Amino acid sequence: MDTAGQFEYVRCNLCGADAPEPFAEGTDRLLKRGERFTLVRCSRCGLVYLNPRPALADLARHYPPEYVAYKKIAAEQVGIMGRGTGRYARLKNRIKQSILERYYGYPAADTRGGLPRWRVRLFLGVFRRMYYRTVPWVAGGRVLDVGCGNAAYLAWLKQLGWQVQGVEIDPGCVRYAREVFGIDVFAGRLRDAGFADESFDCITLWHSLEHCEDPSGILAECRRILKKGGLLVICVPNVGSWEAALFKQRSLLCDLPRHFYDFSGRTLSRLLEKNALSLRHIRYLEDVPIIDWTLNGWLAEKNIPLRLPAGMWRSPLLRPLYALMERLRTANVMICYARR
Ligand SMILES: [Zn+2]
Repeated sequence: MDTAGQFEYVRCNLCGADAPEPFAEGTDRLLKRGERFTLVRCSRCGLVYLNPRPALADLARHYPPEYVAYKKIAAEQVGIMGRGTGRYARLKNRIKQSILERYYGYPAADTRGGLPRWRVRLFLGVFRRMYYRTVPWVAGGRVLDVGCGNAAYLAWLKQLGWQVQGVEIDPGCVRYAREVFGIDVFAGRLRDAGFADESFDCITLWHSLEHCEDPSGILAECRRILKKGGLLVICVPNVGSWEAALFKQRSLLCDLPRHFYDFSGRTLSRLLEKNALSLRHIRYLEDVPIIDWTLNGWLAEKNIPLRLPAGMWRSPLLRPLYALMERLRTANVMICYARR
């Protein structure tokens, strides 16, 4: 059956209303296809979503094998610790290990003990940013990553001592996770995995909730399979960010048509509340490669013969600006921590 171009209209996933107002319109900028898509905002609750959106039967067309999240990562590239053997490399690893122990409760790696607190603090600003995907340690803990892609994140948690489980819709990634990392990944959608009640100490969704057709259903299922007091970590782009406000559908934050939903801190909090999950904290983070992609794409589109060098955004001079964006909750990515 030819399913190309099939669309479906949907109601708001947060409040159930059918009261969309126009938000933005654009094309697939990642795969550079001309087909146009419409983002709407629910006039009742403010949720931004794609409507109409590609029918599920037509979805595979928008996730070709070269899609970035499906990129495979070699086993030896996984992990926080560097592989160097020099003096500096060893010190760097010791600082990282001390951060895991002192700030995330991981067991001590050796009998020397971690570095003194003041030395860890000195390096915290530099290294802690790379720890944003770290989850606090639970002894004997079981973690599930929903939409685990190439499973490199799970491989990393496995190295740290977690019992890991994934769910992923792409068969190539599932095979890779099993063969390269020896990780059990359910091939399909979360609702079909049939995990028992209260199976997990922690569930993570890194840039996957915005791709799901029913985020509210996903959160309800997460609540069911999380242990009491278990941690849910959700990372999504922030549609309330300066970048989304300025560039809207031209930003990778909206990634048409793969992002079915674009959350703000407010709409994500309400979605958690609706599913009886208790929000503890939202961390806002400026994700530099996303700005890079958006700005250079915009310059190309305007036929301006100028490209911003990729390294520019990593300049330490810009760090105070990012810190300000994060403080003002207008950074482009948010990581939400909630407990059952
Ligand atoms: Zn709504």
